[in-house]
Amino acid sequence: MTTLWTQLEPLLPQVQKPARYIGCEDGMQTPEHGPGIVSWLLIYPDTYEIGLPNQGLQILYEIINERPDGAAERSYAPWTDMEAAIRQERIPLFSVDTHKPAGEFDVIAFNLSAELTYTNLINCVDLAGVPIHSAARADNDPLIGVGGHCTYNPEPIADFVDFVVLGDGEEAVGDITELLREWKQAGKNSGTREGLLRELSKVPGVYVPSMYEVEYDGEFLATVTPRYSDVPETVEKRTVADLGDWPYPKNQLVPMTEVVHDRLSVEVFRGCTRGCRFCQAGMITRPVRERPAEQVSKMISEGLQRTGYDEVALTSLSTADFSGIEQVIGQAVVDQGADQVSVALPSLRVDAFTVGIAAEIQRARRTGLTFAPEAGSWRMRQVINKLIREEDLYGAVESAFSQGWRRMKLYFLTGLPTETDEDTLGIAELARNCVKLGKTHKSSASVTVSVGGFVPKPFTPFQWFGQNTVTELNRKIGLLRDDTRRAKGVQLKWHDPKATLAEGITSRGDRRLGPVVEYVWRNGGTFQEWSEHFSYELWLEGMAAHDLDVDWYVHRHRTEQEVLPWDHLNAGLHKDFLWQDWRDALDELGLEDCRWTPCYDCGACTGYGIEHVVASATPPAGGSQGTGVDLASGGAVPVMLQPRPAQSTEGAEVPVS
Ligand code: SF4
Repeated sequence: MTTLWTQLEPLLPQVQKPARYIGCEDGMQTPEHGPGIVSWLLIYPDTYEIGLPNQGLQILYEIINERPDGAAERSYAPWTDMEAAIRQERIPLFSVDTHKPAGEFDVIAFNLSAELTYTNLINCVDLAGVPIHSAARADNDPLIGVGGHCTYNPEPIADFVDFVVLGDGEEAVGDITELLREWKQAGKNSGTREGLLRELSKVPGVYVPSMYEVEYDGEFLATVTPRYSDVPETVEKRTVADLGDWPYPKNQLVPMTEVVHDRLSVEVFRGCTRGCRFCQAGMITRPVRERPAEQVSKMISEGLQRTGYDEVALTSLSTADFSGIEQVIGQAVVDQGADQVSVALPSLRVDAFTVGIAAEIQRARRTGLTFAPEAGSWRMRQVINKLIREEDLYGAVESAFSQGWRRMKLYFLTGLPTETDEDTLGIAELARNCVKLGKTHKSSASVTVSVGGFVPKPFTPFQWFGQNTVTELNRKIGLLRDDTRRAKGVQLKWHDPKATLAEGITSRGDRRLGPVVEYVWRNGGTFQEWSEHFSYELWLEGMAAHDLDVDWYVHRHRTEQEVLPWDHLNAGLHKDFLWQDWRDALDELGLEDCRWTPCYDCGACTGYGIEHVVASATPPAGGSQGTGVDLASGGAVPVMLQPRPAQSTEGAEVPVS
């Protein structure tokens, strides 16, 4: 087997953090490669520290390696110093497991969770020695695949990828491996790459962009149609119906160097029915599917024992909604002993953080505590369907301060549909009131307010909304800065509105954006998620160089009739459901969680026979998630909660004891 280790080893003293490139983690695998085996290189297109903990990648790594016909290794985007070193020495991108050249794998597959990593994807393909354009690849080049949340609108990267997996990957990677194994075994008779791609396009959940013709009507998208009659007109996402069938990762990787989220993670459920209208993650991962509580307890107990971690994160989009939460935490205490293990609940709703939970954890370590009210006024929170009353927030904050916390973070979005200055300034008001509450317990109490600019995402009710301009977002942040300047105990942080704009360009763009992404990459624009590398100018230059109008792509409201670049993909949600929810948002109508109302027929559960279970976070007496929810909208609509960190991050680090 080819390994580049002897060429890489001398470079390690020259680069920052050599541990990024050596592998050797507990849980690492060194699979056999061979003619009857389909080899996958799974890449997280950001640094090792960010990418290693990614659970999606680790799950597929194990599932593929368990197959007799599969082999999976991992790679991460090399930092700029390592990239310069390997380009200088003409060494290609490599896996961290066996340091096999990336170009020798059958498939190079990327996990895409943020649009600003697109240029890193192109860079990794180029470093692998593979042509960056799908159309230029030869029969023996690896297939370039992508999965993850960004793939619900993969059109801006359609030129660069061979296939896209929509939805859950557990079953899809098996189907793709089987198809490729047969194709490899057929050898010379297997036909061309084009034929393989055509076969791939028939695998459920797999979208092959090159199998579709795109036509425009002036500046508007007119049609996206299959080039062959056996290629599906619409690609439906894959959904794993029973999470209990997939208890992965079984051997979570334990890194030798510091990474983000350095702890055991156990996924307790997928999907969310809370219905936050800004939240793409909540929408696209419906329906809710819970892991059996007994299985969660087993994964915690075995995982802690194997890894040596003393902290476990129970992951989901809204962990307090997990019906087995008390059983699982109680079992962890029994199994591990009080004070021996911390349980982190990275997505915990304000209205679920009660005195009870705070009291449960009062002896715990004082790790970070984060709530995400998302908007500063009740009116605004009705628009976004985050139906958290001020008293919910103050109750949670009071509980936390009374149990010993001294500081906390509050996450908000600005630039939301219908937002007024009064709504924006409501953020400062909430923060001041939280500090006031804290100071009744401790004079040093403080609150950090983190404000992100809102980016409308595909398959959400806000997909038709025109994003705020950089000028407008800066003005709103300026209002908050002025208003909090003299507020003792309130610290304001904000996301760069220019980066919000770049994200907006890519999140709802069509195939005409491909040359723009390529322009940014060709001009050195990698690691665009990193403030020290982000280049606003490159994105604007790229748009101008290709005669594309930023206002048209980013700031324009879409109409109901407009063909959207992702209309030929299906995330399980009916489009008319999303449109009705958009209208309800403009009417400031909140909608109840469908776990305790009749089904709204959003489309997500169709065919899965899923019965939603109701967790301890039952609706308040006399109403839903909060009082004052107007349910008179008629056309009800559920949606979701909790996107990726830039858009929402509730999280309480809740140690058990
Ligand atoms: S509205 Fe109906 S289809 Fe949609 S997630 Fe809720 S129960 Fe499932």
